[in-house]
Amino acid sequence: MNAQQTTTVASSTYQQGQNEFRDDIIMMVDDEPLMLEVLEVYLQEQGYRHFIAVNDSTKAVDTILRERPDCVFLDLNMPEVDGFEILERIRSTPEIQHLAAIVLTSDTDPETKLKALELGATDFLEKPIDSSELLLRLRNTLRAKAYQDQLTYYDALTRLPNRTFFLERLQASVEHARERHADLALLMVSIDRFQRVNDSLGPMAGDEILKHMAGRLRKLVNDAGVDAHKSQDYGDQVLARMGGDEFAIALPGRLTRSEVMDLAEEIREEVRKPFEYQGHQVFLTASLGMARYPHDAGEPGVLLKSAGAARELARQAGGDVLQQYTKEMTANADARRSLEAELHTAIKKHQLALHYQPQIDTSTGKMIGMEALVRWHHPRRGIIMPDQFIPLAEENGLIVEIDAWVLKYACTKTRAMHKAGFRDLNISVNVSARQFGNPDLVWSVADACSEAGLAPRFLTLEITESLVMEDTEAAAKMLRQLKDIGITVSIDDFGTGHSSLAYLKRFPIDELKIDRSFITEIPDNEDDAAIVKAVIAMAHTLDLRVVAEGAETQSQLDFLKLNHCHAAQGYVISRALPEREFIAFAMKNLGPGRREAATPSPGTKPPHATTESSGS
Ligand code: C2E
Ligand code: CA
Ligand code: CA
Repeated sequence: MNAQQTTTVASSTYQQGQNEFRDDIIMMVDDEPLMLEVLEVYLQEQGYRHFIAVNDSTKAVDTILRERPDCVFLDLNMPEVDGFEILERIRSTPEIQHLAAIVLTSDTDPETKLKALELGATDFLEKPIDSSELLLRLRNTLRAKAYQDQLTYYDALTRLPNRTFFLERLQASVEHARERHADLALLMVSIDRFQRVNDSLGPMAGDEILKHMAGRLRKLVNDAGVDAHKSQDYGDQVLARMGGDEFAIALPGRLTRSEVMDLAEEIREEVRKPFEYQGHQVFLTASLGMARYPHDAGEPGVLLKSAGAARELARQAGGDVLQQYTKEMTANADARRSLEAELHTAIKKHQLALHYQPQIDTSTGKMIGMEALVRWHHPRRGIIMPDQFIPLAEENGLIVEIDAWVLKYACTKTRAMHKAGFRDLNISVNVSARQFGNPDLVWSVADACSEAGLAPRFLTLEITESLVMEDTEAAAKMLRQLKDIGITVSIDDFGTGHSSLAYLKRFPIDELKIDRSFITEIPDNEDDAAIVKAVIAMAHTLDLRVVAEGAETQSQLDFLKLNHCHAAQGYVISRALPEREFIAFAMKNLGPGRREAATPSPGTKPPHATTESSGS
């Protein structure tokens, strides 16, 4: 008889198709050929279809490593290599150390049994074997294993393969591709700003949406589904949930690059379809990153990192896009990581500073207020602009701390400026997406004002349009609370979202801030000019203040004035200025007549007029 033989049993007349474990691979190691035959017949009758008989015990461990059975029956008494030794080797080989092993022995001596159990036998059976007992123990063992596999390899929420499984499989798939000189593409998919779903609709909604998301992705991927861990085909596609809102898809061989990109496009479109949750329609987008073996990386770990870096870049670019990996990304990603680490201590080390950009009344040309814009004075890199670190801070949650600092600092400084004589100046502060979902915002705003001694009517919070549109109910509630405190609420970047007039009427807002992109080409660009005019007219109808940002030329300013835009901000008036320069600007613009306080409070001392750097 051959040392080993694999049999795929043809359909049995008895219980075919009934057995839940019919696809499991059962192996038996015994030096007695008759034993092997008897067991095979038993199993066949019960509907098991994959049986591996090993007669030569010296080959047992190699066969296990190659075939990866779900359960092995192990005879203890064998010549050359006995069952104890095989058991020991199984338990000390990482890839197979959890393999279910049922030992068979004719020795009823309790010491033998004890030794087998100590060596890690899953269960044991006495010879001669009682067939029904054997089947019972096998079924229980396989059930335990199936449960264990489920826990080990699958994500409980979405039922997709999990990170552990994906990493193991990716390793094997890359190996497989290497042997065949084949390609493999890796796609990473994450939902943009997913945290906001959790923040605004609650974690249950988040879970529900992740399940839907998994279902949608599954439709697009040809994977082995719930039994992925049993598939021995390393050319199979694999879809997994890597954790949080991140999914990964391995696409071995066959697909061309443009086919992968087509798939990415389908995914992108699929995610854009609204998700339903308890009557809410939730609109989401995804960021996708792609890297290829062997083109971009030769090792599974590097491949994963590369696709992740590409995905990260897609997200930073605003999401809803596929980014392919390029070599420069690795360097950028490293830089970003170190920046992120340093941001943690930036506040404590007093590295954040506020610059102030003047806002004027278009009809008089006089300054009426300023927008606080944060900067990071990095000890080595110099001044870092908010676009470089606010998105980072939003992601890791530091934004809460940063915005709280900005709010407090801005209120304190504004109060000091009032005292220094620049009375009635208004301060506008940006509120990040993440903050807006935070119910504590109302308290911290109230606190900031009262601690600074600043009347809330001098404070404007700038909130981006898309934020308000996202969760209208919660938004309306929060806006009302903010308004109750007495502060002004402004819709920032207005025009870039999808607001309709009808929508806006429902919100207790005070001000629209027309986005810079509409101002840049007026008055020459007729479309933009028409939009700006319409927005201004609409604001007047709704009794809202209207501010234009990003005015860079005198003709833009003239246009805004002519069309009765209340206020304007932009380089033509001044850039955002550090405190001392800002005060110099204020003195020049408002004149000393507006300065009433005898002694300016600390930190607001006017500098020499020569340091002024305003554009006007
Ligand atoms: P934003 O709220 O739209 O701020 C206006 C941005 O446009 C500022 O860039 C400002 O310097 C720039 N700007 C002003 N006038 C002109 C102009 O005439 N032409 C051009 N080309 N640009 C002009 P900055 O300071 O880099 O800020 C970028 C963004 O960072 C802000 O956009 C805001 O979304 C965010 N940000 C800034 N400070 C804070 C903060 O304290 N907290 C939060 N959460 N976000 C902030
Ligand atoms: Ca702003
Ligand atoms: Ca803006």
